[in-house]
Amino acid sequence: MKSRILHLQEEIDRVIKKCDACYMGMVDTSGNPYVIPMNFGYKSGEIFLHSAQTGKKIDILQKNNQVCVAFSTDHELRWQSEKVACSYGMKYRSVVAFGKVVFIEDYDQKVDALNVIMSQYTDREFSYNAPAVKDVNVFKVVVEKFEGKAYGY
Ligand SMILES: Cc1cc2nc3c(=O)[nH]c(=O)nc-3n(C[C@H](O)[C@H](O)[C@H](O)COP(=O)(O)OP(=O)(O)OC[C@H]3O[C@@H](n4cnc5c(N)ncnc54)[C@H](O)[C@@H]3O)c2cc1C
Repeated sequence: MKSRILHLQEEIDRVIKKCDACYMGMVDTSGNPYVIPMNFGYKSGEIFLHSAQTGKKIDILQKNNQVCVAFSTDHELRWQSEKVACSYGMKYRSVVAFGKVVFIEDYDQKVDALNVIMSQYTDREFSYNAPAVKDVNVFKVVVEKFEGKAYGY
């Protein structure tokens, strides 16, 4: 079975909306890759993320804001012959997004971004503690290119 390219933005959006985590890849100034899992929000083709103010990823992003973010969902083991290892495969839908990180400093824009992140996980509405909002690092990935693939679907 061949994998299928996802050409439609609606299909790509649907994959991202089904995921509960993404994998953000960065490159440090020595050219070393660094990939970490993160929770996220997604709206209008932009990926919203939040984190502590310090740490390795923030150090990297402040020097190189180019990132690659991967999403995958609908994982399901399939096989043609139960006893033949090479006939096994994993059904999936996945998306890779390439873009640049932009840090969000404005308080109201931070709250908007946090609401987008929360809405990926729950329909509830929230209030926020001002000191916590000021303390958290919020950023978005302005996506330059999406690529999507599906296998078995
Ligand atoms: C499902 C999921 C969702 C997450 N969501 C978020 C989120 O929304 N925001 C957020 O800030 N973080 C999130 N995390 C944690 C995130 O993956 C990082 O661990 C965290 O952001 C710290 O990253 P850092 O670069 O600042 O690490 P530092 O604390 O600076 O890292 C210290 C060292 O630990 C190693 N390390 C860092 N993260 C990991 C990891 N996840 N696994 C193994 N080794 C690691 C690195 O190699 C690094 O050298 C999530 C993790 C998971 C599994």
